[in-house]
Amino acid sequence: MKLFFSLVMLACFGVASSQTDTKLYDIIDAVSEERLRKDVKTLADFGTRHTLSDTVSETRGIGAARRWIKKEFDNISSQCNNCLEVFYQNNFYEKGTNQRIIKDVNIVNVVAIQRGTKYPNRFVIMSGDIDSRVSDPTDFTSDSPGANDNATGMAGAIEAARVLSKYKFENSIIYVGLSGEEQGLFGGQGLAKYAKDNNWDIIGVLNNDMIGNIEGVDGVIDNRTFRIFSEPITTDVTDPNVLARQARARRFYGGEVDGTSRQLARYVYKTTKTYMPEMNPMMVYRLDRFGRGGHHRPFNDLGFAGIRIMEAHENYTQQHQDIRTENGIAYGDTFEHVNFPYCKKLTAVNAITLASLASAPPAPEDVSIGGIVEPSAKLKWSKVEGAKGYKIYWRATTSPTWDHSRYVGDITEFTLEGIVIDNFFFGVAAVGENGHESLVVFPNRIMR
Ligand SMILES: [Zn+2]
Repeated sequence: MKLFFSLVMLACFGVASSQTDTKLYDIIDAVSEERLRKDVKTLADFGTRHTLSDTVSETRGIGAARRWIKKEFDNISSQCNNCLEVFYQNNFYEKGTNQRIIKDVNIVNVVAIQRGTKYPNRFVIMSGDIDSRVSDPTDFTSDSPGANDNATGMAGAIEAARVLSKYKFENSIIYVGLSGEEQGLFGGQGLAKYAKDNNWDIIGVLNNDMIGNIEGVDGVIDNRTFRIFSEPITTDVTDPNVLARQARARRFYGGEVDGTSRQLARYVYKTTKTYMPEMNPMMVYRLDRFGRGGHHRPFNDLGFAGIRIMEAHENYTQQHQDIRTENGIAYGDTFEHVNFPYCKKLTAVNAITLASLASAPPAPEDVSIGGIVEPSAKLKWSKVEGAKGYKIYWRATTSPTWDHSRYVGDITEFTLEGIVIDNFFFGVAAVGENGHESLVVFPNRIMR
């Protein structure tokens, strides 16, 4: 009896004090390298998954690939009491929409929604891509296995669905295969618009694009580091008056590097450091690679938080290349180059982030800050239904991460005694009964 009590107390204490949820370790362990290997092989074996490729064949082309992906999601759903809503989301584009759309095409995404028990209309999204390409972006017939780019991201999304569909979450999770990425981010554009039209409340999008290469073109081999790309502030505002007001506010109060996508990036960083400390998450403070883009961008364009998760070391001889050997170098994005233990790790990073965000209460909507010419910073925030309490975060102005925090219980204002407002940035997150936290909200009002 005594032992029983102390175990119960230990269990409660464990959740409240350390903010770790042992379920997340089970989720990490459940991600299967073998299933990822099998799925990447299946996807690569469709020959090509070019957006404009054959849609009739059962064995080759993007049509066969998307039907297989839908079937996988359907199979997963049948094993969890139909817990997934699986459907195609179509976007028609005419020939000439851009230089890479050389014929009329139906760009089809495959969507699987695991409905949240408490907030069915709040979504955290994990995406991979269905389509592939070779050297010429309009070549839709040549072999284009796209094993790393981006069968790995696609397989990761399917595997996350297998693992997480065994659990129930308060918020909805979407696992999605997007198409048309290589032709100009068309699938993401289509789904982001669909989300807007259907008033989806999106917590964030984890776009996975190339999560299986560990041997860089620079010769570095590294199976622990991965990149999290995020834009600094939201880019959906176009009204010049609003833009001017926002710029003025940032000049005096900060916020240049504290948009919602950046908070999402920090959340992935923190969750990884907490549950997978052997990994090296590397936040990159830009939308994507230099001058390049990915499928999180169309979501960012509409004001949704979205980031790209990606290997740290790319190999350019193995992406967007015709399969060939030249001067002893084997070009092409083929199955043999993918490192599956690494792909498993990055899939696990996604799965724990999805699980944590899907278990968290909504973030406070309004956060105000004050304390000018005072010895202490003050914060005030709007109450969140379903929150057990709140956590105040702060960091030195030059730090990329929320290095300091303090849990403050179920109140809506707090003074951080002795912490001078001038020397830090601040934010507030809501904390659920289960210990899971919302994204951190940067103050959007000044206390007078
Ligand atoms: Zn690509």
